Amino acid sequence: MFDAIYLGILTARGLKPLSRLEYPIDETVLGWLSAQGLLTAVVTRVARNGARVHHLALSRDADLLSRYCAEFDRQPLRGETPGVIRREAHYFGYPACCAEAYIRTPHAPNHLTAAEQALFYHRACPGCRVTPRLIPAYRAALIEAQAVWRSTTSEESQQSGTDLTEMVRRSRSVENGI
Ligand SMILES: [Zn+2]
Repeated sequence: MFDAIYLGILTARGLKPLSRLEYPIDETVLGWLSAQGLLTAVVTRVARNGARVHHLALSRDADLLSRYCAEFDRQPLRGETPGVIRREAHYFGYPACCAEAYIRTPHAPNHLTAAEQALFYHRACPGCRVTPRLIPAYRAALIEAQAVWRSTTSEESQQSGTDLTEMVRRSRSVENGI
């Protein structure tokens, strides 16, 4: 759930044009996203076994959100083809250099520290010139998300995961982050 807040802030600040959550969120967080000026849409995908999976897409740009829905709603989950990686990088704000490097070599080492890499939903490419410039804004968004998280969740649920950076890293599947 922390990811919903972090992604909400990144998207509301325009650091990511659109974000996707792959788990249901409660009314409180949905209301909070809306108060940040974000529009949301449920996108239904079809898994390989035919099961329907519901994702929540969020963006402050109504046109971009409808384009994303038109492209992905009711479409099968195909996995990571180069085409899907490029399209998702476009929507999710992943630098094109990182998406292309990921297509060539998915887990090539980069120059970011583990804590820096954990700020992102994409893997920075080796020698990336774009991602390092994004670090201050992403770090500020993480700090802001931590403050919101503390004020909107009970102490009980906070105690279940106190290392927020670790939480972000563990829940990386929210966006099929590359
Ligand atoms: Zn890059």
